[in-house]
Amino acid sequence: MRFPLALSAKIAAHIIKHKLRRTPKFALVLQLEPLHTCNLTCTGCGRIREYSTSLKDLVPLDRCLAAAAECDAPMVSVCGGEPLIYPKIEELVAGLLAQHRIVYICTNGVFMRKKMKEYLAATHAPDREPLLQRLRSEELIADKDLEAIRKGKADGRPVIAPSQWLYWNVHVDGLEYTHDLIVEREGVFQECVAAVKMAKLIGYQVATNTTVYRETDVQEIEEMFKFFSWLGVDGHTISPGYDYDAAKKDMVRRLGKQPEDFFLTRQMTVEKFARIEEWGRAFTIFGTPVYQEFLAGKRDLTCTAWAIPTYNIKGWKAPCYLMTDGHYPTYQAMLEQVDWEKYGVVNGVARDPRCENCMVHCGYDPSGALGTNYRRGDHWKNFKYNFWPRPPRFERGAEVQAFNGFSVGKGHLAEARAALAQPTASGNNGCHPPPAHAGSFCGTADRAATANPVVRAAEAGPTPSKAG
Ligand code: SF4
Ligand code: SF4
Repeated sequence: MRFPLALSAKIAAHIIKHKLRRTPKFALVLQLEPLHTCNLTCTGCGRIREYSTSLKDLVPLDRCLAAAAECDAPMVSVCGGEPLIYPKIEELVAGLLAQHRIVYICTNGVFMRKKMKEYLAATHAPDREPLLQRLRSEELIADKDLEAIRKGKADGRPVIAPSQWLYWNVHVDGLEYTHDLIVEREGVFQECVAAVKMAKLIGYQVATNTTVYRETDVQEIEEMFKFFSWLGVDGHTISPGYDYDAAKKDMVRRLGKQPEDFFLTRQMTVEKFARIEEWGRAFTIFGTPVYQEFLAGKRDLTCTAWAIPTYNIKGWKAPCYLMTDGHYPTYQAMLEQVDWEKYGVVNGVARDPRCENCMVHCGYDPSGALGTNYRRGDHWKNFKYNFWPRPPRFERGAEVQAFNGFSVGKGHLAEARAALAQPTASGNNGCHPPPAHAGSFCGTADRAATANPVVRAAEAGPTPSKAG
């Protein structure tokens, strides 16, 4: 099966239950933001900019769990900010699992290995030695990590353990060069790959999470799918970028860029996603085939942003994950008080001009699952997509030149490419040479946790965000 049976069955049962009850609006996925602090400042991220005045604030653990219980979404995407910075992330994940929810930890990957080492230490037993030796031989842990793991962990706090109900959802926007450019930090892609490898060896479920921008090369995205499929990831989320206000202002002020140079219009989205259905057959792409048809420009959908609500330090954010017209104290109050008819695009006409170019998954993916704009055969299509065999691992993924050099410039591919085309006096064009063979790491980088400067900085604690 493409997705684990228990997960698909849980979501299907939730939808059927509400359809039978004729519930007009209900939640499918909760976007839970326990904090907005982040160790990165990715280009295009509106979160750390919109909430720049409350970056240090945390949603208390009991409020996070109460929000999940109130909206009763079967899936919770724990995002942020960087959720692994949340001091009680382990307790939060344990609490959500105890509520029988499917949990996605949406992370930039930098702290993942730290959390997995804590899991290994807390559960250490002699029969783990072969796994530890394998992790060490692949340079995913260092000698000092081995020592610490063998000593164990006895602080009594929970750890994030592998579970069929849990996914690491790792932010990756391209191969090494592009991804590091977008996250505005060298070494992050390498760290993500190391974290994914380690997670798969330990037995976690892992997905990737990609945003497509105007300058994204779709061929590169396909190569990225091949590479991560070969690494054994369990699925991919992909969504077009959106020019929401906070990100727009940041583009102009901090980077001196015009948002229209970076984000997609509807027409461009359709062009970029022309092959999404093909990707859906070749790779384990999350989301419904109906949403994929929408992205490919083959049909219209109505926005159902209420089905993927966002809860954060200010309350329930409306109307959607991206746009903020207000915050509400409860999910129910938000459902009742927001005039949902004001939003989305219907028959090609934007009800709100800010929705005009939006085709993002948090507005339209649930529409495909809920049967809005239903066409005959849609239910069968969705059923078949979920329950049919999973696409095989892409065996030739090792041939992908994933480590294609560190980036230069700040979040703008055209500028960086121009810089690459101009060799410096030393002959170094600003990009480390590509690896001699596929699957190796760029330059002489040592992948052990202590060697990657991104990890060294991260393990020293989160740096204050440059945002705002
Ligand atoms: S990792 Fe990047 S996209 Fe995610 S919250 Fe941090 S800055 Fe934003
Ligand atoms: S179309 Fe929906 S998801 Fe997109 S910006 Fe408008 S309200 Fe938000």
